[in-house]
Amino acid sequence: MLNILNLIDDAKCYEMVRQLRWPEGVRCAHCGHFWVKKRGFHNNSKYRQRYYCHVCERQFDDLTHTVFAGHHQPLRVWMLCLYLMGLNLSNQQIAAELNLNKDNVQQMTSQLREGVVVKKTVLLEGEVEFDEVYVIAGHKGNPTAVKAKKRKGRRNRLKGSRGRGTLAKEKPPILGMIQRNGEVVIKMLPNVQQATIKPIIEAVVKVGAEVFTDEYNIYNRLSEWGYHHKTVNHSVGEYARDEDGDGFHEVHTNTIEGFWSLLRSWLRPHRGVSQEKFPLYLGFFEFIHNVRKRGKALLPSLISILVAP
Ligand SMILES: [Zn+2]
Repeated sequence: MLNILNLIDDAKCYEMVRQLRWPEGVRCAHCGHFWVKKRGFHNNSKYRQRYYCHVCERQFDDLTHTVFAGHHQPLRVWMLCLYLMGLNLSNQQIAAELNLNKDNVQQMTSQLREGVVVKKTVLLEGEVEFDEVYVIAGHKGNPTAVKAKKRKGRRNRLKGSRGRGTLAKEKPPILGMIQRNGEVVIKMLPNVQQATIKPIIEAVVKVGAEVFTDEYNIYNRLSEWGYHHKTVNHSVGEYARDEDGDGFHEVHTNTIEGFWSLLRSWLRPHRGVSQEKFPLYLGFFEFIHNVRKRGKALLPSLISILVAP
């Protein structure tokens, strides 16, 4: 039977990693200096180049300090796994495509998602839209779905926790912040409270940005936090408003609402993601959305971020 892994060779995978990791030439994985020399190959892989650094006098190799280091799987397995993740296959589908055990694949994809998520940092400015949605994600892997917001009048929600999602209820809220014509940041929240969102917003959105939200009260203090806050009043049927009178309806949250439908489709193949793992799925899609690449064009971006210092 055809095994796709046999069609890909490790030598080329190492070559690709070296190019993406060190576009300006090999530098020390420990101290960053360029004064290094080759020193044979790794014991377990004849293509994994080893180096010696004259500055810190230590050794390293092509994979040192990356998520690909220290695993028994050949590099080509990691590369194919990452490529299939970029095509949005589920763990089960990847296991089937690569003739691997599902638990192994789960472990690999978790590490890869985590590697992408911890490396990326995004800062938003200019015109930014905020919104929240609720997902169904249990602690033990119940079916997962991003729920469309069903808000029967905003006033209900302002009274108390009734109908609102929290982590404990297995319906965690997700806060989305998207810069118009720019990048997006999505975060799973333990609850929807001002004290919860304030540090998240401050870390992601530059002070002075123009922020568009609906009239939900968690956004009430955005002006106080240093943002130019504009609200669109969904509860009275308003979806976009021309506030400065230039004929352009700039007060809206259509960009983030469009993003939610992309996220919803992206999450569809991944049934039963637990709450603990869910932020990794969000972070991975956030990265993919922000690099604006798909298919084989996406793979170099994924490898680059994973091998970046
Ligand atoms: Zn060094």
